[in-house]
Amino acid sequence: MFSSVPEFKAAFVSKLEMAYGTTFEESTRREQFQTLGTMIREQVSTNWIKTNEMYRISGKKQVYYLSIEFLLGRLLRHNLINLGIEQIVSKGLGELGIELDKLEEFEADAGLGNGGLGRLAACFLDSLASLNLPGHGCGIRYKHGLFEQAIVDGYQVELPEQWLKHGHVWEVRKGDEAEEILFWGHVESSIENGRLVFRHVNPEIVTAVPYDMPVVGYHTKTVNTLRLWNAEPSKFTAHSDILKYKKDTEAICEFLYPDDTHDEGKILRLKQQYLLVSASLRAIIKSFKKKKRSIFELHEHTSIHINDTHPALAVPELMRILMDDEGLGWDEAWHLTVNTLSYTNHTTLSEALERWPERIFRPLLPRIYMIVEEINERFCRQLWDRHPGSWELIESMAILAHGEVRMAPLAIIGSHSINGVARLHTEILKEREMNNFYRVFPDRFNNKTNGITHRRWLMKANPKLAGLITDSIGPGWIKDTLQLEELLQFKESGAFLEEIGSIKQANKERLASRILEKTGIAVDPASIFDIQVKRLHAYKRQLLNVLHIMYLYNRIKEYPNYDMHPRTFIFGAKASPGYYFAKKVIKLINSVALKVNNDPVVNGRIKVVFLENYRVSLGEEIFPAADVSEQISTASKEASGTGNMKFMMNGALTVGTLDGANVEITELVGRENIFLFGLSAEEVLEFQRNGGYHAQEYYHYDRRIRTVVDQLINGFFPDTGNEFSEIYDSLLSYNDQYFVFRDFSSYAEIQEQVGKSYLDRAGWLKKSLVNIAKSGYFSSDRTIEEYAKDIWHTEPVIIK
Ligand SMILES: *Cc1c(COP(=O)(O)O)cnc(C)c1O
Repeated sequence: MFSSVPEFKAAFVSKLEMAYGTTFEESTRREQFQTLGTMIREQVSTNWIKTNEMYRISGKKQVYYLSIEFLLGRLLRHNLINLGIEQIVSKGLGELGIELDKLEEFEADAGLGNGGLGRLAACFLDSLASLNLPGHGCGIRYKHGLFEQAIVDGYQVELPEQWLKHGHVWEVRKGDEAEEILFWGHVESSIENGRLVFRHVNPEIVTAVPYDMPVVGYHTKTVNTLRLWNAEPSKFTAHSDILKYKKDTEAICEFLYPDDTHDEGKILRLKQQYLLVSASLRAIIKSFKKKKRSIFELHEHTSIHINDTHPALAVPELMRILMDDEGLGWDEAWHLTVNTLSYTNHTTLSEALERWPERIFRPLLPRIYMIVEEINERFCRQLWDRHPGSWELIESMAILAHGEVRMAPLAIIGSHSINGVARLHTEILKEREMNNFYRVFPDRFNNKTNGITHRRWLMKANPKLAGLITDSIGPGWIKDTLQLEELLQFKESGAFLEEIGSIKQANKERLASRILEKTGIAVDPASIFDIQVKRLHAYKRQLLNVLHIMYLYNRIKEYPNYDMHPRTFIFGAKASPGYYFAKKVIKLINSVALKVNNDPVVNGRIKVVFLENYRVSLGEEIFPAADVSEQISTASKEASGTGNMKFMMNGALTVGTLDGANVEITELVGRENIFLFGLSAEEVLEFQRNGGYHAQEYYHYDRRIRTVVDQLINGFFPDTGNEFSEIYDSLLSYNDQYFVFRDFSSYAEIQEQVGKSYLDRAGWLKKSLVNIAKSGYFSSDRTIEEYAKDIWHTEPVIIK
């Protein structure tokens, strides 16, 4: 690694000139970025090789985290920080007249995920490596990640994302480690040497080629691997229509599905899932066999984690490998499978539970289907023995029912551990959504509250705040984030609180200039920055936020002298392309923005901004600049949330419902340091069970609600015609299942309190400090330590 600025500069210039055949002076910024990235990856290679060697010889258990999404974002600065060479590189580049900040912008976000679930996978990779744990990611190398969002006339427009256009400096293609994946065809059985054996006949073969990326730990020599698979035509199949075969094959890894709640393009999606699982498991078993251990020790040397149900085919695929390739009997294979696999549940929304029609599943994956059938039969028989005659119960828990293959039961039955992602979520799983399974497998269920990597979301995103923390309590918090609590000693220090305040101010000014540059809207950095950024979904209730803004606007129009501290409402959200309602909410936010921002009567008291194309790199600019964090989902619907943690760690105060991890945030900071409102999860579930919610009543009895709801359809927004009639109907005619009206009044009240609290600057900063100080619990290092200890039973391997 470079130990001095001159050494770095010399290496950089020489590498650049060699690679591009140009003088340094004539090189472009992109060439400079590519050179720097390539240099860093090469520097990492020595430790990458060492790490893999140590893993082979140490015999320590390896963890594989299978995930259909990894929302990585940019890696340059993150890697520089973890390698401890950020200062040298930044200074060296500076002396050459290059700003690292500017160079960074040439790296495309690796956006191979939709939102929280994919970002969690990326945070986990960072924590695994930083904790010296032998844990690797397995995913798909989508040619196009999540679509790029543009806003045109207030509408979302989707453009194909192009992260690979200029190549990806961090990846290494491993053509020799490709795996052959079998689709279609049929299965023949025969008796050989007294054993029943199965052959997959006439399959369509697809070659899965791995692209490996190094995952660098913080100030350690550990370099783990993220392996992303790409589908390519195989040379082992003959085809009557070779062009069609090539096209079908390349389609598999073409796009990430832009929907985290329901499935489309079913065959393609199922192909993606099987490709990920089959290629990863084949490679994992090969790597295990290099250790020359008995296959019966597989579960002692290997943990395979299923991130949500998308990789749940790992259950039958591991069974297939153990039986068909390794020659084990059913019971032996089942014992190893269950003890190797573990599963995380991410949602209780029923529309998000994956199911595949048997008519698609069976022909596409004939051998896997047979195994699923057998697993299902054995499980149902076991249930029958426990509860003879309980047809309904058995039907509700079966893997195969009503012509469908259900992935959640498959994952639960085939794993030794099932975890929820926040305490409330796990309780709801155990007591309600998965209560049937909980009663059969009580020991399998456990909670692992999500976390975020503080190295990206605090050190990288907010270097000023990270610097202040280190200056005041030393650097120990970076390795042990609970030490952030030492900040509490400064609760009464006016000078310290002012420093927190001025860092926030600087971050707000930076975001304000970004907003001006992107949208042309001038926002006042002295106003309250009240921010809601996350995927757009009805349950997350961006609609509650925007209806409340309309109410504030109406109040100002009614009482033009109304005195309130100016507030800037900032939104960022992508809607799934087929999610009609969500797109209408985006349009509504933009219509409200147009109206409010241009009305002289408002006179700067409210501004509304929609930032297009919310993604990791934009998040890094947003979280540090927030005063208020909007976490307002209908209670019980948000499994955990991780955006809430990023805001908290950067000193924003939460306006939230008691949902997901907000519950744990509340316990940590105390009720006086968070703004809670609305129905509890219990109350929401009660409404759902027994009815009793009547949207019409709120409409009739609350004038504020009636006014804003009527404005959706009465021409209040010029030139929008019937644009918002579906929103109107969903709220009123269909008795809104997310209870927006029910929570409106308490939301308005708490927002009033937020405004008042902000006027007490010292009081506000004190709350902000408490939030930062208590956020250490939400480091993904804590989460990963819990997974390692309770689920994976693995230990650190120190690379010398
Ligand atoms: C953290 C994050 C999310 C998840 O946000 P929630 O508020 O928890 O839904 C989604 N997208 C991006 C880009 C993120 O960084």
